[in-house]
Amino acid sequence: MRAILVIADGLGGRPTDMGGATCLERARTPNLDELARKGALGLMDPIAPGVRPGSDTSHLSIFGYDPLRVYTGRGAFEALGIGMEVRGGDVCFRANFATVEERDGRLIVVDRRAGRLAEGRELEGAINQLDLSDLGVGFSFRASTEHRGALVLRGEGLCAAVSDTDPHETEVPLAEARPLEDSEAARRTAEVLNEFSRRAYEALRDHPVNRRRREEGKPPGNALLLRGAAVMPHLEPVTEKYGIRGACIAGGALYKGVARAAGLEVLPVPGATGDLGTDLAGKARAALEALESYDFVFVHIKGTDNAGHDGDAQAKLGFIERIDREFFGPLLEGLEPGGFHLVFSGDHTTPPAVGEHTADPVPALFFGPAIRPDRTTGFSERAAGEGGLGRFSGRLVPQLLSYCDFGPKFGA
Ligand code: ZN
Ligand code: ZN
Repeated sequence: MRAILVIADGLGGRPTDMGGATCLERARTPNLDELARKGALGLMDPIAPGVRPGSDTSHLSIFGYDPLRVYTGRGAFEALGIGMEVRGGDVCFRANFATVEERDGRLIVVDRRAGRLAEGRELEGAINQLDLSDLGVGFSFRASTEHRGALVLRGEGLCAAVSDTDPHETEVPLAEARPLEDSEAARRTAEVLNEFSRRAYEALRDHPVNRRRREEGKPPGNALLLRGAAVMPHLEPVTEKYGIRGACIAGGALYKGVARAAGLEVLPVPGATGDLGTDLAGKARAALEALESYDFVFVHIKGTDNAGHDGDAQAKLGFIERIDREFFGPLLEGLEPGGFHLVFSGDHTTPPAVGEHTADPVPALFFGPAIRPDRTTGFSERAAGEGGLGRFSGRLVPQLLSYCDFGPKFGA
């Protein structure tokens, strides 16, 4: 038996999005309607009623973890998602290459993105050659897209209660990291960060890449700005708990990161861009291929949320129709009837009328041989309110895997 979870980010909507109806209600979705007719619907509060979720906290909850207990920030999952090795207890930061100028003995930030430089991977080596062993910590740095990257600190007595070295504005000094609580760990972590910043500047200042950029009249990437300290929680991988093999198909680093933390293997999918231009048919092909060797496949589709943030109801409607046609069409054609359970839902509501995540519950669709069918005949928020699954909080993955008869019993 195979398990498939498909999350369309920010799928839910409000009646104010399209003059009395949501984008999903207005969209033509014959494949999803067919699944709804044969399966069952319900409404999911991603974390709990009235909690307005981020994508990170809602995905943790969907995988069965309690974000209120384990979550300190998104940086840890992003670091995992760009392929870094991150262990429970590591302190992670989001990083930017930036341009600073020395003025009166101070480093003044003049460009927070160093002209969105493309040479991050060339500068990465100089950072990783730094030695912080005198401070008793290990670290690794990875450049990702454009000026972005991530820093992972590992060592005893570190914590995430420190302020950013990113001043979040220009023409001001590079910020000093400060302890945000009265603890030895916070003081020590702030000290390590400030020392790291100083040494990173020294390593980058006269780097050949930066000399070349200056000659070309471009801003050098001569400093690293750090923000969003987060501790990687100790999570029991879903794959271990249920004794299964799992795979993830996603474009965005955050989703790959949560999936890796849950024990899933992240598969490379060319054309999975994490935006409205993503190759949905390519994702369906990749999912079908993965289902030949994995028990559980998680597919993340981001474009619905992007359209919601843009306030573009037409784009959201059009993208939902594309998901139905280009993703679910070939997926359902390629699957063996009766051999799988499938869940389709969102990670929260992103109404174009609001342009941000809201706390409204999200429609969820369950399909497969073990699912008791209900009387719903189409997939939408309205139909989900009348669905046989009622209303529940998060935990889509534990529910899905249980229908496939994976996993342990709680109690005797
Ligand atoms: Zn989201
Ligand atoms: Zn969003």
